[in-house]
Amino acid sequence: MNASEMKTAAVLGAGTMGHGIAQVLATSGLETRLFDVDAAAVERGLAHVRANLDKGVERGKLDAATRDAALARLSGTTSMDEACAGVDVVVEAVPERLELKQSIFRDLGRRLGAGVLLATNTSSLPVGKVAEVTAHPERVVGMHFFNPVHIMKLCEVVEAEATSEEAVQAALELARRMGKEPIRVQDSPGFASSRLGLVIGLEAMRMVESGVASAEDIDKAMTLGYGFPMGPLKLTDLVGLDVRLSIAEFLSAELGATFEPPAILREMVARGELGKKSGRGFYDWRE
Ligand code: NAD
Repeated sequence: MNASEMKTAAVLGAGTMGHGIAQVLATSGLETRLFDVDAAAVERGLAHVRANLDKGVERGKLDAATRDAALARLSGTTSMDEACAGVDVVVEAVPERLELKQSIFRDLGRRLGAGVLLATNTSSLPVGKVAEVTAHPERVVGMHFFNPVHIMKLCEVVEAEATSEEAVQAALELARRMGKEPIRVQDSPGFASSRLGLVIGLEAMRMVESGVASAEDIDKAMTLGYGFPMGPLKLTDLVGLDVRLSIAEFLSAELGATFEPPAILREMVARGELGKKSGRGFYDWRE
């Protein structure tokens, strides 16, 4: 389980995150299979990768030969047998449902030897719960990438109780090989990024609710005053208010009142104001 020697990877789920993870793995030199249960999702995922790499060449971020080599290393499939044959590492990026992830890890545990690194890209589920159904849970880690994967530098490497030091080191090294800056985090609700990011987002909402300042001005306080690349309310609009509400509900149950969703968030979600995707959130996105 040595990341520098890994040659072949499978990515399970070809959606927003899966195609990005597959792109970066293939660009980093691994033969990469992008698997999805839905053939159309595989095609869409591969098309997104091609478009991203073409844009990279246009902008001078990579040369045409690197793009072509990455594309030659990448294939799509709807067959788990094909995806998993001879792999050194699997990164799972299917929808955020525990039973679904468990059914996949149970299957992976049966198919793959104990030396294969198994990573989940879950953004909130306990990695230990995903791992516990698998033969050899010690090789299971969280590798939490950020969207868009080919641009965002962070990878949270999440260590569950059963995870071996060897698996943690392999994941940290693989993330570095992918050009990411990994951080090592215990398997605790919200890991490091969601927990801290959400506190700021929820407090910003409470400040709008009590009329401290407008959404624009609260965001400016953080972009201009603290150097955030984007204010917490605009970020909430991009993530989706519904997504933030469900994470807040989960974290308030796990960690307490700090994460209690403010009334304004519940009301906006009930009105269908979900942020950019619905045209309206803390900002008006309609034009
Ligand atoms: P998505 O809905 O865009 O993609 C999920 C894909 O998984 C779909 O193409 C779907 O067809 C496929 N799928 C469903 N069942 C499957 C199965 N049994 N086997 C293989 N593929 C299957 O989801 P996403 O946004 O890419 O999120 C994937 C994971 O990444 C989730 O756990 C999510 O919490 C996490 N995550 C998401 C983001 C984000 O910003 N979207 C960021 C970090 C982590």
